[in-house]
Amino acid sequence: MKSADLLLLGASQVVTVDGGRAHAKRGAKEMNDLRVIEDGAIAVRRGRIADIGTTNHITARWRGLERIHCRGRTILPGFVDAHTHPVFAKYRADEFARRCRGADYEEILATGGGIHASARALRACSQDELARDVHERLDRMLLHGTVAVEAKSGYGLTVESELKSLRAIRQGAAKHPLTVVRTFLGAHVVPEEYKRDRAGYVRLVIETMIPRVAKQRLAKFCDVFVERGAFSIAEARAILLAGRRHGMRPKVHADQFRDRGGARLAADVRAISVEHVDATRRAGMRALAGAGVVPVLLPSASLFTGLKHIPNARALIEEGCAVALATDYNPGTSPTENLQLVASLGCSLLGMTPEEVVTAITRNAAVATGLAETHGRIATGRHAHLVVLDAPSYEHLPYRMGTNLVWGVVVGGRVVVREGRIL
Ligand SMILES: [Zn+2]
Repeated sequence: MKSADLLLLGASQVVTVDGGRAHAKRGAKEMNDLRVIEDGAIAVRRGRIADIGTTNHITARWRGLERIHCRGRTILPGFVDAHTHPVFAKYRADEFARRCRGADYEEILATGGGIHASARALRACSQDELARDVHERLDRMLLHGTVAVEAKSGYGLTVESELKSLRAIRQGAAKHPLTVVRTFLGAHVVPEEYKRDRAGYVRLVIETMIPRVAKQRLAKFCDVFVERGAFSIAEARAILLAGRRHGMRPKVHADQFRDRGGARLAADVRAISVEHVDATRRAGMRALAGAGVVPVLLPSASLFTGLKHIPNARALIEEGCAVALATDYNPGTSPTENLQLVASLGCSLLGMTPEEVVTAITRNAAVATGLAETHGRIATGRHAHLVVLDAPSYEHLPYRMGTNLVWGVVVGGRVVVREGRIL
């Protein structure tokens, strides 16, 4: 008998999301191949997965210091949220209420609401206050089974407040079990004070913000919002290439309302991922598949804003893309930390299969977040980042819409959530 630090036994399923030669799972055949072990068990040693198999196989070979009986529950790779905006000063419930009562977004913007309201509020906050909020939001993500998250700045829109936002993410994540990957999104929108000098703001992003973010090692990725009212393709290309020169790999918010060629831009600049792509046409999809850019779809934002724009997941998968799903957690268009809900919407709104949505919030999301080596699948020798759902099969994950099914979470071999509570 060999000795393990932790044994997880008696799971009705261990959903490994393993197999395949590349990091991401592309197209329908790979995305539907989850590699499930029935009556499964896992042995964990020194933070890594030492063995996987049936419960009989594991109990015959391993003795464990700590044993968890999963009693018919389902084990999956810990979820990865590939797209969030978790550093903001306050929620905008008042605005949401106004929208429900009939005000439109333009009207809310004109009366000082929307993203500009978020920018004003964030500028007035201290780094400590922001970090405390980030930490609480990470707790809620963890309770919903998320073990790694991509986190963007973008509500500061001044040099100091963008740096403060990224430092607040770093500070809020410092003593937290979640892995947090930071993205600089200074080019979220043009702030109010630059309304008559767009070129001036683009210069500020390129010449001042990006070099300082890079020098202080505050972000791994550089993102731009390509949209009317935000940034043009030409402006975005200049910003993304500047980011790349400073060691930050591009990400792009693209084609949310209309196909402006954002997907093609993402392919051209070798972005790691492209976000939204609600309106992207086939040519753009083929460019993404050809360049290996992961489309990160955000169906909770589509739902929350009234289903006017819905990404064509089926076409993206048909074209051979490795599709990922994320919450887009933010105070304006998607105030949810719950990736399980997003998985449900992947099936019900986007026509994905339960297998595809599981792949999309684990393995493909890990690739989109630059965490392919450490997250997103269960395999011998890899880090033990696991989630235990209080359900007999992974099909319950998209089916039990809006319900938090998380019973346990293991991060780096350590049990951090048990019986739905953070330890
Ligand atoms: Zn976003």
